[in-house]
Amino acid sequence: MFEALPDKGVPGEQVLDELRELRRADLPTHGGRLFAYVYDPALEGLDDLARAAHAVSAHVNGLDPTAFPSLLAMENALVGAAAKLLGGGPETVGSVTSGGTESLILAVKAARDSRPHLTTPRLVIPSTGHAAFAKAAHYLRVALDVVPVGADLRADPAATAAAITPETVLVAASAPSYAHGVVDPIPELAAIAAERGVRFHVDACFGGWVLPYLRRLGAVLPDFDLSVPGVTSLSVDLHKYAYTPKGVSVLLHRDETLRLPQYFAYAGWPGYTMINPVISSTRSGGPIAAAVATLRSIGDAGYVELAERTRDAVAVLAAAVTATEGVRLFAPPETTVVCLAADAPAADAPAADAPAADDPAADDPAAGAGEQAVDLFVLADELAARGWHTQPQMAFEGMPASIHLTVTAAVGATADEFAGDLAEAVATARAHGPVRLPEELVAAAGALTPEMVTPELVAGLAEGLGLGGGDFTKMAMVNSLLNIAPAGLREALLTGFLSLLQRPVGVAHAPAPGAAPVTE
Ligand SMILES: *Cc1c(COP(=O)(O)O)cnc(C)c1O
Repeated sequence: MFEALPDKGVPGEQVLDELRELRRADLPTHGGRLFAYVYDPALEGLDDLARAAHAVSAHVNGLDPTAFPSLLAMENALVGAAAKLLGGGPETVGSVTSGGTESLILAVKAARDSRPHLTTPRLVIPSTGHAAFAKAAHYLRVALDVVPVGADLRADPAATAAAITPETVLVAASAPSYAHGVVDPIPELAAIAAERGVRFHVDACFGGWVLPYLRRLGAVLPDFDLSVPGVTSLSVDLHKYAYTPKGVSVLLHRDETLRLPQYFAYAGWPGYTMINPVISSTRSGGPIAAAVATLRSIGDAGYVELAERTRDAVAVLAAAVTATEGVRLFAPPETTVVCLAADAPAADAPAADAPAADDPAADDPAAGAGEQAVDLFVLADELAARGWHTQPQMAFEGMPASIHLTVTAAVGATADEFAGDLAEAVATARAHGPVRLPEELVAAAGALTPEMVTPELVAGLAEGLGLGGGDFTKMAMVNSLLNIAPAGLREALLTGFLSLLQRPVGVAHAPAPGAAPVTE
């Protein structure tokens, strides 16, 4: 049992060994076999550099830039680089945040607080907008207006225009969307927002550091950055395609007036006057120094090369999906995401030119489960068994279940191998057939409401589904169950499950799944 506070201190080498031992249970952050969560440029020596830079500034506190001007200089450099890459002008300003979610929360806060007299400030996003917008709306008590996307999975300008009300403080869209990797029609949307006098945010958290390079390489993508009239703010995560260690994103604003309501200031207590541009007060300089080192080491030309490798890997993976009977590309692989879905079974396959979102099998995840259909959740397990870790996505509003692949430069070295394994995994998944959920489980799930989900129920379900051992590699059954659960129930079940996992060591709770039994 891993304990954080031993009676007596432990030698450093032993501590590091223990940490490395713990890390062995993790999915591989490097090597191009994990298609979510991590971004690997596969550049020799870069990790060592970032690590060393992180150490230089780990104890520096971003709370007060007058005390630590080094951090201010580094942040200004990062914001400047982002502004230059992403169409910023002479008035552009920005902030360094801890990640995309924080950038989005702050974009929403700035918009909300720019109009303090509204009773119900509102945020308009496409249904493919990142979940972090919903989190921002929730935290900030801003009403969320979600506009369905078109059959092409892109934000719908006319429907967006219709959703704007006098209380709308912000309209947002993605470049590209995380789930499908498609770029929303930013110029049209921004023009609509501008005409109504509403701020418009481009969520380029995912692709902001790679789209400019893909375009330089010749990719035909719509304009999406601050050079587009009407775009008032833009977020870009450096811990994604800038390949920095975790904990760095940039939020850009067209000008200082737009940024001002992002700040929080408070002098009404006996301590120091607190002025915060971001959510945290005390924050480490480590991730920021590591980001500066990463950008300076790779350089503009280096990012062109990384984008080229990524683009080529996307092409290999997309071709493999297209060539594999039983699966199809669900979204055009126009950026760095490959998103695949099961072929509709022959009997009720839509006409070749029918838009994917109209797939008749899509509304009912159980439909289309004929003999030939590939169960995406079984496929994800089969890929995992071959050392490829993908991200299953549940069926959603007419969209079937899909598998998401975030492709990074490291995949350049593994794409061909993946292509071979994909064909094999699909064949195995086909032979296996779709997951058949026990009838009583389906009935139980149908009768459950989120309010009925208790810790005991979750613990029993986790045990019954084989999650008690902490092995999360055979997830088809679990995913199939979650897939038929309405969103609210899925949220409640997974919240309960996470809460079950998050148990302090050395306190007498029932052991979490996967935890070794407590020994005296
Ligand atoms: C990753 C991502 C976010 C959230 O970023 P975090 O760094 O995970 O907080 C927001 N929007 C998009 C499009 C993303 O891909």
